[in-house]
Amino acid sequence: EIPVVALVGRPNVGKSTIFNRLVGDRVSIVEDFPGVTRDRVYATGKWLGNDYRLIDTGGIELDDQPLMKQIRYQAEIAIDEADVIVMLANGQEGLTREDEVIASMLLKTDKPIILAVNKTDNPEQRMDIFDFYALGLGEPHPVSGAHGTGLGDLLDQIVASF
Ligand code: GDP
Ligand code: MG
Repeated sequence: EIPVVALVGRPNVGKSTIFNRLVGDRVSIVEDFPGVTRDRVYATGKWLGNDYRLIDTGGIELDDQPLMKQIRYQAEIAIDEADVIVMLANGQEGLTREDEVIASMLLKTDKPIILAVNKTDNPEQRMDIFDFYALGLGEPHPVSGAHGTGLGDLLDQIVASF
């Protein structure tokens, strides 16, 4: 069975950007469910000989539901479907209430969780990641979906938890 990796995080942290960076142009699987929008949500990736399946939970939306309900729904999908969960946060905006809600849900699963702080675009911003230790998910990994930096380290962490 090919391991499933799920990306979770509040809107605008960069899930789709990271997803596209990790899987490139690989064909995604689009599935339709009533009341649920699924766009480019599933794809396959490969790192150091390890195949994996990636889910961008941000592309799975309930129709007409408030933000917090969407976020909880997406985190539940990750908890149910993934072997490894990558929580993304936004280092430029810092820690938010939504991040805390997601982290508190993820803390209840025994599945491996990797915390990545996106939008760490330059070395000076690497100091901003330390606040994210407060989420209780362990070491925050700085990444930049815009520049593609930190993603090799992130993938190393992901495949090490398979
Ligand atoms: P999502 O809602 O979590 O899927 O976030 P998106 O991938 O759609 O990204 C939201 C916005 O953040 C877009 O305007 C992206 O171009 C921008 N963005 C994504 N990654 C980075 C990054 O590493 N650095 C910066 N500065 N902007 C980013
Ligand atoms: Mg998105």
